Amino acid sequence: MTAVETAVRLPRLELFIDGTWRASSDGGTIPVVAPATGEVLDHLAAATEADVDSAVRAAHAQFEGGEWARLDGAERGRLLWKLADLVEADIDNLARLEAVDVGRPFGEARFAEIPLVIDTLRHFAGWADKITGTTFSLPPFAGADRFSYTLRQPLGVVGAITPWNAPTMILAWKIAPALAAGNTIVIKPAEDASLTTLRMAELAAEAGFPPGVINVLPGRGATAGAALVRHPLVDKVTFTGSTAVGQEIAAAAGPALKKVTLELGGKSPQIVWPDADLDRVVPTAALSLFANQGQTCASGSRVYVHRDIIDSFTARLKAHAESIVVGDPLAEDSQMGSLINEQQLQRVLRYIATAREEGAELLTGGERIGDTGYFVQPTVFVGTNDLTIAREEIFGPVGTVIPFDDDDQVLAYANGTDYGLTAVLWTNDSSRINRFTRDIRAGVVWVNAWGPPHPALPWLGVKSSGIGEELGLAGLHANTQLKTVNILSAPTA
Ligand code: NAD
Repeated sequence: MTAVETAVRLPRLELFIDGTWRASSDGGTIPVVAPATGEVLDHLAAATEADVDSAVRAAHAQFEGGEWARLDGAERGRLLWKLADLVEADIDNLARLEAVDVGRPFGEARFAEIPLVIDTLRHFAGWADKITGTTFSLPPFAGADRFSYTLRQPLGVVGAITPWNAPTMILAWKIAPALAAGNTIVIKPAEDASLTTLRMAELAAEAGFPPGVINVLPGRGATAGAALVRHPLVDKVTFTGSTAVGQEIAAAAGPALKKVTLELGGKSPQIVWPDADLDRVVPTAALSLFANQGQTCASGSRVYVHRDIIDSFTARLKAHAESIVVGDPLAEDSQMGSLINEQQLQRVLRYIATAREEGAELLTGGERIGDTGYFVQPTVFVGTNDLTIAREEIFGPVGTVIPFDDDDQVLAYANGTDYGLTAVLWTNDSSRINRFTRDIRAGVVWVNAWGPPHPALPWLGVKSSGIGEELGLAGLHANTQLKTVNILSAPTA
């Protein structure tokens, strides 16, 4: 038995359709690779178009008149709360699965990601019996008294496609509001990170969700993912992943006039002014660069530092980066683990090589660690805003520090990108805070901190970082359909 096999219990690796576990209809599979070792642990069933059709039809049948359609909001909330309790009881196992499958350090999964899964399920459990419309006080119409109001109703079947970088948290972002609102869901997790989603399907069955409410289809994006987007009985597609695939999904869903939520890539700025307390800034800036090996959509990978403090900032960031423990994701003291796969490793190394060729100054890191697994040193370059690494999403542990001289210049730098996911401002100057929180083009702004999303707060990107909102009341409403009703009484005599 390998070390990984003794550390984790793998979930069922089949398709979860209509409450039953099944092999793929053509017997196809995808290897489960542990990125820290390159070892093939087992094989997942890979859903076909026919499997997608079965899952969507099961979800549709539950929505249209199954047991689920008869549950009221409070009962849906109780099921979500029960699922949260089961996740909490299984938290160590889920965190270990995530570490093995994604290469993310156990500690990050155990103390940051999975707690957010629990919080998200409970937050939306609380909304499930509080979904309301609005009443309107309007004058009589055509001589009759008028009562007009809106209803918020579920959409139907939600098709959810998730990425590999934070698969459990993003899964919760999709299922919690969709189910709170009364929809049913079919989930296509990423090829490289399906284990925790399959474990969540086991827990959902244990919680007592009726069969067909939650369906999980591991499989390939171009086949299973694309079939889910195209399926005529899918009413909404919610996707988190790269901007390039988001554009393909928008192109496929658009002509069918399906609702879409797209949470896409980022190249987020952090701006550090001279009045900032560098003892607070540097550890947080480093976390933003290196958490999950830099494979975080909200990573503040462009660090703009005022020229007056550039030397002291870079000296501290270098010391901090060099203190980070990179190692076995299952080891409790590891602060960084492995990148997800060989392709991602090569992509990150290519960006590092390009930065060198373009004349960026290497502050620290820059090398692969060892030749087993996909480990890369925490890497920081210092350079100019036109470097390739300052413009493109790398999705790896590579940050660029760029000096700036004045506010107009740094605002232009910060907004000079197609992306607009997050932004971080480090200053106590209220005039600057007011100007930049207003003028920066980002979906989420942090001032004097950077951290994970809170389930009560909308999460969104602008420009090429996305369409629509997740989390918060906005995220709940994105899973509902508004209907306007006008009731006219008989004309008064
Ligand atoms: P990806 O776009 O390659 O894949 C995401 C999912 O889409 C996977 O499940 C994949 O199988 C599926 N897919 C691929 N092609 C498809 C197609 N043609 N039709 C339907 N589905 C298809 O992204 P990734 O590499 O898994 O994730 C990294 C990206 O995700 C980064 O760009 C990152 O910024 C982004 N991301 C964004 C957020 C956010 O909230 N904005 C959060 C996490 C990750």
